[in-house]
Amino acid sequence: MARSGARPGANGDTTTISHDDASTTLCVVVPAYNEQEVLHALHARVSAVLRALPFRWQVLYVNDGSRDSTGTMLLQLAEQDPHVAVLELSRNFGKEIALSAGLDHAETDLVIVIDADLQDPPELIPQLIDGWRQGYDVVYAQRLTRAGESWFKRATASAFYRLVGRVSHVKIPRDTGDFRLLTRRAVLAVRQLREQHRFMKGIFTWVGFPQLAVPYHRDARQAGTTKWNYWKLWNFALEGITSFSTAPLKLATYGGLASALFSFAYGIYMVIDTLLFGNRVPGYPSLMTVMLFLGGLQLMAIGVVGEYVGRMFDEVKGRPLYLLKTCRVSPAPATTAPR
Ligand code: UDP
Ligand code: MG
Repeated sequence: MARSGARPGANGDTTTISHDDASTTLCVVVPAYNEQEVLHALHARVSAVLRALPFRWQVLYVNDGSRDSTGTMLLQLAEQDPHVAVLELSRNFGKEIALSAGLDHAETDLVIVIDADLQDPPELIPQLIDGWRQGYDVVYAQRLTRAGESWFKRATASAFYRLVGRVSHVKIPRDTGDFRLLTRRAVLAVRQLREQHRFMKGIFTWVGFPQLAVPYHRDARQAGTTKWNYWKLWNFALEGITSFSTAPLKLATYGGLASALFSFAYGIYMVIDTLLFGNRVPGYPSLMTVMLFLGGLQLMAIGVVGEYVGRMFDEVKGRPLYLLKTCRVSPAPATTAPR
């Protein structure tokens, strides 16, 4: 298990910090977008796991503007089961924001974030809680395998984690999704980060606090289809890099510098060449090559700057992250686990 941050109360003793389980509250946050096929299976599995725990608990579903019957199913579920709380966003805002909306409304001691599609096995929750009992504030599940995903997806994901690890200021753990447990103070910290471009894995790492990885085997999607395609993944990767690193801007600077140095050296060579041998050929091909090369380089550098300027534009507007259509959340889970 990978650990980071100081472990509170770990002065050589391995005793667990005592928690008053009966008064501890737990909320499982589930962002859901067009997940009608899996919702019932998910709720059954999550409830089964939570019922076995000694805490007071709640499952907070965030309907991220689904176009299928996810919304009505969730409201029905809330009618039937007092453990269910539902938030509905006014439209589809994307997973990162749906998740943030859930975190904004989860007022419990512990919050667990899990995907709706059952790729994150709810049965791992007790292990995440063990991590909390050892004194960690953020306990994240780390994938050992990714079932049901093509080698290309796995290869690109791995390359992405390596790249982000190299360029960003915070060390984002690899093969980690959003499936994790957060203590209240970690949740309160995450809530303070209100940026529009939300790379949650980075945000969770940025807040710090003692963090622990719990390895697991990732299942394939139970039903339904992934909401990701390669264009979205590419943009997600861009988000990850630009939110936590200014390395691409530096790359533009140094790329420009290198090409300027090269041009300078080439210029000197041309002068000497002309002085020694005279102007043998008009030099059209080399001129064209250099012009095209520099033109391309400049456009690319402007594009890189543009990526950042565009993001600044989005942040400067200061819009709310999301708008709510429905809010069926009690401030704290008033319900006690039926024993
Ligand atoms: N999701 C969401 N809003 C979106 C896209 C996805 O709330 O716009 C939810 C989705 O319902 C699921 C989770 O985010 O619970 C992960 O989505 P998905 O399984 O499509 O992503 P993947 O597992 O392929 O990374
Ligand atoms: Mg999934």
